[in-house]
Amino acid sequence: MKKDYQICTRCVMDSRVKDIKFDANGICNYCSDFLKHTSHILDKDPIVQKRELDIFVDKVKKNGKNKRYDCIVGVSGGVDSSWALVLAKELGLRPLAVHMDNGWNSELAQNNIENLVRGLGVDLYTHVIDWDEYRNLMQSFFDSDVIDIELLYDNAMLAVIYQLAAKNKVKFILTGINKATEGIPLPQGWAWNKFDKKNIYGLAKKFGNVKIKTFPSIGTWERLWYYYIRLIQLTPFLDYFPYNKFHALEVLQRDYAYKPYPYKHYESIFTRFYQGYILPKKFDIDKRMVHLATLVASKQMTREEALKDLAGIPYPSEKDLEDDKIYFLKKMMWTKEQLDEYLKRPEIPHDNYSSEKKFYDTVFNLPNLFPQSLRAKITSFVKKNR
Ligand SMILES: [Zn+2]
Repeated sequence: MKKDYQICTRCVMDSRVKDIKFDANGICNYCSDFLKHTSHILDKDPIVQKRELDIFVDKVKKNGKNKRYDCIVGVSGGVDSSWALVLAKELGLRPLAVHMDNGWNSELAQNNIENLVRGLGVDLYTHVIDWDEYRNLMQSFFDSDVIDIELLYDNAMLAVIYQLAAKNKVKFILTGINKATEGIPLPQGWAWNKFDKKNIYGLAKKFGNVKIKTFPSIGTWERLWYYYIRLIQLTPFLDYFPYNKFHALEVLQRDYAYKPYPYKHYESIFTRFYQGYILPKKFDIDKRMVHLATLVASKQMTREEALKDLAGIPYPSEKDLEDDKIYFLKKMMWTKEQLDEYLKRPEIPHDNYSSEKKFYDTVFNLPNLFPQSLRAKITSFVKKNR
């Protein structure tokens, strides 16, 4: 460990994060910002929260009248999205659950999803990605040495849920994204913009000349279209509740035969190998730190418990890691030497390749370009002229 190593005295973020800052009490800017910016959600008056939830649910129901479904819920098999589906159903909504199979699902995740939708009596649409095409795309991402290999899955999943919402004329996509367990953002450079379709196409072409035929993808323009023209909104549904991950897990296990994973996002074999081995080895990043720091800051876990979880490798055992390594090599058709060679190569930033991130940021993150009043005008114009 480096001499100037420092760890936050409140959460568990440490000085491996490049832009981390500590105050005089040794408290970091990540958990301080998190508490400052999310207190309006985390400490909301329960009566106000309930009222806001009722208004939202009412809106979804009204909009979904005479339609087969009134909302779409993307499910990965993880706790957050599973819980969002349970709550939607409990509130009398009629969700279509959507899952994406990119060839890396663990059997555990598959079983969890099946038990859940059966128990809830919800329709499930599973989009199965063409494996050969997906593997070629993954290969091009590995060859390019960019960090966010999961951009492929996340972008495809977004594309599929938006497409299904449009097809079923549903205006509401409910997600398990939430502040209570995910509110501390990933540090800059740990992931890439999930709507960067141009990056996906650019890498596919440059490395391996992959022709994208069936891979579902979504970029800035499509997102604008869905947002302004189709009026489809993506809602972080769990923020309407006093969400506690451990309580959710308890109910899921008790009522839906749910089996937990050792760490967050371990429902996919690739995701766990990526987070548990590739990220730490090649990029010197341990995502557990951010997830656990959030749980500590939102008081769902003690700092001591989080530190205990952080000790050791991000795998239940060396044997589990070895098994996943063998599985990964076989599935990607790599030799062990290829993996070692890949891990040794330095990172290349995503924007060294073609990218639409700047365009996306300009459109979505500069409020002055699309002020609320203009957005409202466009929306009402579209409604009138439909
Ligand atoms: Zn902190």
